Amino acid sequence: MTETARTVMFHQAGGPEVMEIEDRPLGDPGPGEVRIRHRACGLNFIDVYQRSGLYPMALPHPLGMEAAGVIEAVGEGVTHLRPGDRAAYAAMPPGAYTEARVMPAAQICPLPDAIGYDQAAAMMLKGMTVEYLFHRTTPLKRGDTVLFHAAAGGVGLIACQWARSEGITLIGTAGTDEKCRLALEHGATHCINYRTGDFVARVRELTGGKGVDAVMDSVGKDTFDGSLDCLKPLGMMISFGNASGPVPPFNLAVLGQKGSLKITRPTLFTHIAEHDACQAMAQHLFRKVLDGDVSIRIDQRFPLDQVVKAHRTLEARATTGSTVLEL
Ligand code: NDP
Repeated sequence: MTETARTVMFHQAGGPEVMEIEDRPLGDPGPGEVRIRHRACGLNFIDVYQRSGLYPMALPHPLGMEAAGVIEAVGEGVTHLRPGDRAAYAAMPPGAYTEARVMPAAQICPLPDAIGYDQAAAMMLKGMTVEYLFHRTTPLKRGDTVLFHAAAGGVGLIACQWARSEGITLIGTAGTDEKCRLALEHGATHCINYRTGDFVARVRELTGGKGVDAVMDSVGKDTFDGSLDCLKPLGMMISFGNASGPVPPFNLAVLGQKGSLKITRPTLFTHIAEHDACQAMAQHLFRKVLDGDVSIRIDQRFPLDQVVKAHRTLEARATTGSTVLEL
């Protein structure tokens, strides 16, 4: 009898209710692939964009891009992993919300013994994102100031700690005073409740009218214009998400009018496309965690069969830190 794995699938784009659990056949790995048995999977806002149709996908499709577990079998040509290895990943194609899967090996990383499966499932996608934002997107140095929106979220709490460890001043924003407190506890120098206050005015005040060196904006539609107004001349706008909706088309000339600003719209998956770069980014993240610079906070845990509730909670802005699906 063919072995199967319980897997979250969606057959049409829509609300959280479109997700269903199905038994999917589990084959043997082909060349360049491995079979991995998951111990935990991570929830990410990108899963919401894919499920809702904002990032269109061929349907039906499984979901999820981050997990940790044990390698069961390796295909021809895979040399960095062996059966029995502990491993974790952030990777395409989506399909991480499952008990086990066969997938390309290049983005799967051997997991140090001192990092637990839950922790790894809660940090690979979010942590490697912070790694490229702080080290590969624009030159940032000790003493620079960054505005980081949604600072109490999964990516956000890692970013707060990462900035502190690099001597970078991080001004966070968050949707409640409680979330602001959490961001401050994790290393944000300041945190602004952007639902009750004017974050642009406050950033101007906090920087003595100068503005920040870079903005890391994953909120999108609601914050984009204000974010540009927080930058110093020659500052860098990093637009890396759309939690409030996609940024509408805008006039490039605005960048000139506001002081020769720069702008980029990066994705993690370009940065980790090459095996060596991906492994190096993961090693950097593991070092930050093992050195105690970054701790991974899992504030929500849901069994796999409560994935609908997990998505509802994330979309309602009712989560902080990372969320894990338990198997
Ligand atoms: P989070 O845990 O940060 O959750 C999203 C947060 O966005 C919410 O908690 C909320 O925080 C804030 N938010 C603001 N407006 C809205 C809204 N209208 N609806 C829902 N949430 C809103 O998620 P992740 O850590 O998974 O991801 C953070 C962001 O980073 C996402 O936008 C994601 O797509 C992006 N990302 C981009 C990557 C890339 O490479 N481009 C890679 C990884 C993540 P609050 O209540 O404090 O406002």
